[in-house]
Amino acid sequence: MQKIIKMNASKLLCFLAIFSLLGLQSGRSYTTERVVLVIIDGLRYSEGLGDVTHAQVPHMGALAEQGALVSDFQNDGYTYTSRAIPAIWCGAWTTINTFSDPTCNGASNNTTELPTVFEYYRKQLSCPADDCIYTLKELCPWKGSLDPDYGMDYWPLYHAVGSTDTDVWHETETIIANQAPRLLLMYLADVDHAGHSGVWDDYLNAITTADSLIGELWTTLQADTAYAGKTTMLITNDHGRHDYDFTGHGDECMGCRHIQLLAIGPDIQSGLVSDVPRTIPDIAPTIGELLGFTTEDATGTAMLELLDQTTETVRDDRGVLPASLALNNVYPTPFNSQLNIEYELIDPQQASINIFNLGGERVWTREVSVQGTGVHRLKWDGNDQAQNVLSSGIYIVQLSNQNHFLSQKVLLLK
Ligand SMILES: [Zn+2]
Ligand SMILES: [Zn+2]
Repeated sequence: MQKIIKMNASKLLCFLAIFSLLGLQSGRSYTTERVVLVIIDGLRYSEGLGDVTHAQVPHMGALAEQGALVSDFQNDGYTYTSRAIPAIWCGAWTTINTFSDPTCNGASNNTTELPTVFEYYRKQLSCPADDCIYTLKELCPWKGSLDPDYGMDYWPLYHAVGSTDTDVWHETETIIANQAPRLLLMYLADVDHAGHSGVWDDYLNAITTADSLIGELWTTLQADTAYAGKTTMLITNDHGRHDYDFTGHGDECMGCRHIQLLAIGPDIQSGLVSDVPRTIPDIAPTIGELLGFTTEDATGTAMLELLDQTTETVRDDRGVLPASLALNNVYPTPFNSQLNIEYELIDPQQASINIFNLGGERVWTREVSVQGTGVHRLKWDGNDQAQNVLSSGIYIVQLSNQNHFLSQKVLLLK
């Protein structure tokens, strides 16, 4: 269904600004036009993607296969929420200032010393508040900076609604349908609260809920014409939990420090597990790189290693062994009824070609074995394994054997 978004003058200006800018650190241009950031408060890595069975996080596990995961991502500062979340926004560990907040009946509230990613985005790209929305449960939201060059004129629009993560998701779903902001942050608080409650099963259930909401979020984005195929989603945590006691956090133990950074979207490599060490301040500059604005007071840097290398057609994602197979050329893209997949199997071996949708679902598979040296070609008609017609969108073609995964994205246009 085609969605009609009211386009006023300021939204139009912002829209044009996004199209005119390149990635500022790298000079590259990206397919990404929208970014959705999800923060799951206080999820310890060992119950998240650090558990290889993905028992609590099957949806994020599926997304990780089609996106990029940073295996060594850390909170390198304060492992508690009131400092770590502002560090995610600011791309730096920032001082927090208190003030009496008139929008919260004069209660004491916090601002950041440094500008936030929302302020950089809105000011540099001339984007109105309803293009930059922050959803959370009914709390008085901590505010951005009072920096003279940025400040409250560029804060995001806060939607603090409901009392559970599920409520926050329903509000976010409505916002996606109605306002379609280009920069959206969804903050899920329940995992941390359940952890502090001391009831292990409540903690695990909160993780399972957050994971399924994220699955719904990505499915919703891929079914929405404003977002499908041009949205990058980043999922992270502010901190973990003690490795010796899940009910608390706040020190320098690895359970508190080691957290998740999962990225998925049209410019993100598929199936990559990056071992480049990264930390919380690298998130905001990565968003700036994709959307085309600078995060000038950030201390972090954009995670360029997660992004597609446009000139590279053959890649060993895991870097384990020299590749004994190659995905030479996949063309044309976009395609309508015939995709040509050219590949090489260098040694006698069993390999397979799988095609995934952006939801991480495998839609087509074919076993291939060595048929002599040289380039072989396989055709795909754009139908699934049961010969059902698939909808238009980005698909990932993956050639893999036991050790290597080589992927390319293609666009199917019906
Ligand atoms: Zn906590
Ligand atoms: Zn700890």
